[in-house]
Amino acid sequence: MTRLRRGNRDLIKEINRNLVLNLIKSRGPISRTDIARLSSLSLATVSGITADFIASGLVHELGEGESTGGRRPMLLRLNYQAGFVVGVKLMEQTITSALTDLDASVLHHRATPLTTATGTEPSVVIRAIIQAVENTISEAGVDRARVLGIGIGMAGVVDGEAGICRYSPFFGWRDVPIAEPVAAHFGLPVYLENDVNTLTIAEQWFGYGHGVDHFVVVTVGRGVGAGIVVNGQFYRGALGGAGELGHITLQENGPPCDCGKRGCLEALTSDPAMVRQARVAITLRERTVVAEAEPLTLEAIVAAAEAGDELARRLLGDAGHWLGIGIAHLVNILNPQMVIVGGEGVRAGEWRFGPMREAIHEHAFDGLADELEIIIEPSGDETWARGAACVVLGEIFKPPVDRKEAIDLMAAMV
Ligand SMILES: [Zn+2]
Repeated sequence: MTRLRRGNRDLIKEINRNLVLNLIKSRGPISRTDIARLSSLSLATVSGITADFIASGLVHELGEGESTGGRRPMLLRLNYQAGFVVGVKLMEQTITSALTDLDASVLHHRATPLTTATGTEPSVVIRAIIQAVENTISEAGVDRARVLGIGIGMAGVVDGEAGICRYSPFFGWRDVPIAEPVAAHFGLPVYLENDVNTLTIAEQWFGYGHGVDHFVVVTVGRGVGAGIVVNGQFYRGALGGAGELGHITLQENGPPCDCGKRGCLEALTSDPAMVRQARVAITLRERTVVAEAEPLTLEAIVAAAEAGDELARRLLGDAGHWLGIGIAHLVNILNPQMVIVGGEGVRAGEWRFGPMREAIHEHAFDGLADELEIIIEPSGDETWARGAACVVLGEIFKPPVDRKEAIDLMAAMV
């Protein structure tokens, strides 16, 4: 072996620390001996690393485990309260924010009303984000010094590397830096990410997608989107625009979509699309209790379906059917092991997702949906904000190099 350059030695130290941290996170409570065995590191190396973690408060010693003869080993576990992160979901009329611990458990969340319109100055919105984060931290009552970073999720095309919103259809923004001014205020790392991507990263690190190499997260609600993980890697596409599932064309001359085109999946299956279809049916004097709902919302449609209303059941069923066809396209192209459906539209329940499942099986290519796991993720107000927090947590636990870099590094060592 050639002598390692200094830079490489530091990097290998970082890789080892990350390996030990992730073993304690995923296998803890765990003994030093087991960490050494699972990581192929020497017991001395493991002891050195864990001593640092214990000194910094990141890892706790938990008492004694099973003895295999001789002295009982001390078990180690991650101290999830050693640090906290804040996640923010930016919407047109609300900022939801959540403070989580290192295990992505939400300790406090809040909704801050926001008054904006197309063309609202970015500085106004950035000030509102800063205030929302300040309030979240102070209301959660945690030590400010233990807040490690902030994640922000928003709809639109987002350049996560640069922390810039490239395009926001609602705000009418192009190339607006968001992460930098927030980072400057707090003196913390700030990550900006597309909102669907935040949920995908959350699933990859803390949800059903953990340890799954090929999965897709599909969000339904105000819009429809998809986050894609292929070969264990989050897939962004050439311009960061991968996963615009909502805008595949399913009816060439179908209803108009917010994107300016017609017949997109989103225009057929989103929550606002269903409300629009209900209005049309009411205008056509179709008999339905939905006509009395004020305001006419997805909840009102679901309640009507529960009460036996034919129109409500048909609207939800059709929306689910179209969504299933859209997901079948994804299955045929990507052949995932798992599809996780999330977002605020999950509240519609089985009236929507029963027909969705049927359509997936009906339209997926022979065999590709047989073993497919379809998971409907329960959704709360803080879901999106927690997703944004997970972007920060993902950065904390992420290996310092990806697989390809690691292979290159090893090749350089021999
Ligand atoms: Zn569209």
